[in-house]
Amino acid sequence: MRLILLGPPGAGKGTQSVRLTQKYGIPQLSTGDMLRAAVAAQTPIGMKARAIMDAGGLVPDDIVVGIIAERIAEPDAAAGFILDGFPRTVQQAEALDAILAEKRMGLDAVIELKVDENALQNRIAQRAKDMEAAGQTVRADDNPDAFKKRLDAYRTQTTPVSAHYARTGRLRTVDGMAPIEAVSKAIDGLLSLGVRA
Ligand code: AMP
Repeated sequence: MRLILLGPPGAGKGTQSVRLTQKYGIPQLSTGDMLRAAVAAQTPIGMKARAIMDAGGLVPDDIVVGIIAERIAEPDAAAGFILDGFPRTVQQAEALDAILAEKRMGLDAVIELKVDENALQNRIAQRAKDMEAAGQTVRADDNPDAFKKRLDAYRTQTTPVSAHYARTGRLRTVDGMAPIEAVSKAIDGLLSLGVRA
């Protein structure tokens, strides 16, 4: 199962990805998580990405494409993976197409979580509160200013990614405003239909 989850920040991609990894036994490949790990480890990539991420901008395509190409080549991704937060630009989507074509791999589904953008600000504020309550470190970019920039980046640079997959009839959408369980069911429904992207 090779799957892409699309949707703005706070749409629930991470939540659904975690559930799908358990259901299918395949890894969640989150470029956000990988970049945060690079920042924490102070690698050269992390040093480059940190300020961009904190401000809510997008890290350059060549960096994230390099990260994902390496990750997809790892043994645990051979049976499939869930891409969460990648691709975020059309250039990234085209690079992914090329990487997969070279490996003669296809995508089983590209699923977009559609959400009311006005509700996202509240979700992000809630996420910050929940993390704080759980004693976890709140993400540096889960604040109103950075969030506005992340949403802007999504609108201008990531919305065309949906069109990229829609053009080839590969895009499916799910109502991301529904309760988590209902969203999960809708995704399961699409996957059991054997959607082949
Ligand atoms: P996320 O955890 O997916 O919300 O990502 C957090 C931040 O990491 C984003 O706001 C970007 O700064 C950066 N990032 C994650 N994935 C990508 C990507 N595919 N392209 C560019 N920047 C990314």
